[in-house]
Amino acid sequence: MKTTRRQLILGSLASLAAAGLNPNSGKAATTLNSQPKSAKSSGLPASLKVKALVIGSGFGGAVAAYHLGMNKIDTLVLERGRRWDVKPGQPGPFTTSKNTDGRALWLSETDLLVTDGPKDPLKRYTGIVERYNEDGIIVWTSSAVGGGSLVYNTVLLQPSKANFEKVFPSSVNYDQMNRDYYPRVVEMMDAGPIPDDILSSPSYLGARVFLDYAARAGLPTQRINTATNWHIVRKELQGKLEASASAGEIWYGGNSGYKNSLDKNYLLKAQQSGHVQISPLSNVTSITESGKGYKVNVDRIDESGTVISRHTITCDYLFMGAGSMGTTSLLVKAKHKGTLSRLSNDIGKYWGNNGDTFGSFRTSSPAGSTTGGPAHIVGLDYQDNPYGPQTVIGFPQANNTEDSLIFLGMALPEESGYWEYNDQLDRAVLHWPTIQSSEAIKNLEKRMEYTLIKLANQVAPASAKKAAVDSVKVSVGATAHPCGGAVMEKACDSYGRVKGYQGLYVVDGALVPRGTAAANPALTIAALAERCMDHIIKNDIKG
Ligand SMILES: Cc1cc2nc3c(=O)[nH]c(=O)nc-3n(C[C@H](O)[C@H](O)[C@H](O)COP(=O)(O)OP(=O)(O)OC[C@H]3O[C@@H](n4cnc5c(N)ncnc54)[C@H](O)[C@@H]3O)c2cc1C
Repeated sequence: MKTTRRQLILGSLASLAAAGLNPNSGKAATTLNSQPKSAKSSGLPASLKVKALVIGSGFGGAVAAYHLGMNKIDTLVLERGRRWDVKPGQPGPFTTSKNTDGRALWLSETDLLVTDGPKDPLKRYTGIVERYNEDGIIVWTSSAVGGGSLVYNTVLLQPSKANFEKVFPSSVNYDQMNRDYYPRVVEMMDAGPIPDDILSSPSYLGARVFLDYAARAGLPTQRINTATNWHIVRKELQGKLEASASAGEIWYGGNSGYKNSLDKNYLLKAQQSGHVQISPLSNVTSITESGKGYKVNVDRIDESGTVISRHTITCDYLFMGAGSMGTTSLLVKAKHKGTLSRLSNDIGKYWGNNGDTFGSFRTSSPAGSTTGGPAHIVGLDYQDNPYGPQTVIGFPQANNTEDSLIFLGMALPEESGYWEYNDQLDRAVLHWPTIQSSEAIKNLEKRMEYTLIKLANQVAPASAKKAAVDSVKVSVGATAHPCGGAVMEKACDSYGRVKGYQGLYVVDGALVPRGTAAANPALTIAALAERCMDHIIKNDIKG
């Protein structure tokens, strides 16, 4: 029997809660026993002093680099992933879910996430998606110049004021975020909603079916601001460019170039300032206090992950932008090894999965097989869900062979994970409660089920309704939205200043208290980084 895409996604997710630890996941990107070549061969000197150093080039790191550059502060960005440039008129650089190869995965031969593709091991490569197999949860992130913006669904969803104020400390004022910081990011990333002509095209039938069910169920919906170039999607639909967004190709990058990723805006402008350099394939392995600044050890790697040279970089100001997983791993390690021994005991705590779930139901129509992307419609079940506010986003699907709709769910975070250094594995490990051990996680499942049953009850004809409701399936064992680990008003202040240290900042998802209030995190992470950088540049950085 052919395994369908829905079975693949939900089947693998269902088993994730029981996931064992993968000793390679989250470790330094190295062939550990390899002999590094001389430092000179990689373009970075063996040792270097810079004023500001940014680790990671995702949403937080890119915003930090941009503001440092615009303020003429000489800055180096160390990013362990490679560059992925889409060049007009040339084949795109990314692999696809139809024809998957090693470009899909960060230094793994087997951790495929969305594919009907090859069953044989893939070539080990510095590919785009990393899967962390942690204790109780699987977490997906991206490694690339531009971090998560290369693989994301381009969704820039702003949380509601009511939800935001339940999650964030009162020191972060929603009205100011709404007035200043959220719009800044939306403008810089040139985000907007799906236009009518694209939504009404045959490739977007699934979205129209979702809108129809939601209207009949009384579920409020919105067209989301997405950092997508819809002109490019239009050209895809006209057959002038490779079908990428419109074919539901999201997770491994977009070959048509439809994503307004960070390398096209924040990072590009940072480099154009003349004060920011980006060093790709540069994996930071440790951080140490050094005089009034910091010393960072970094491995330059080739595209198979082999270390080609080792470097030590010192800086006055260090900005952590390696994402919730990367930043937390590095800080937990530094505390454990005593290289940043004054870090607060709150480092590694208040980690959350953003209240994420995945769910689906059968529709008895071809809706599911024709859901073009990126994700662009959200349902806001905030009024009458008895388990709490639930957000659902219709998920685009490449190669779906089944008549089902798939959704990403997000809720307010109610559960906390924690990180500990594991000497045997020689890495920081994330511990997360399972559905068997946590009422809060059971509640997440019920909340998402409640909203999906509401939608499934609208399936027509009436004879198909029971099968649709019975097919509702929710999975809670994985997230692509890690948040926390160096949280504001705990391990850091609300501007990302790390407690116990001067000149050390967290500006990425690690700063967020467990989730971004029933919304996808990228917009809030970037807007918070805008807020941090405004304050830090004005008050902390000396000429
Ligand atoms: C498939 C997928 C789809 C998603 N879709 C959406 C969406 O539509 N909307 C949304 O809001 N969110 C989405 N997300 C989540 C979003 O990508 C993240 O919330 C966001 O990217 C986090 O930003 P960040 O700055 O915290 O870190 P990231 O963007 O993860 O950036 C961290 C960077 O640091 C680098 N790094 C890590 N460790 C090291 C190290 N030791 N040395 C050097 N560099 C290092 C990484 O390679 C990475 O490039 C999605 C995530 C995935 C995986």
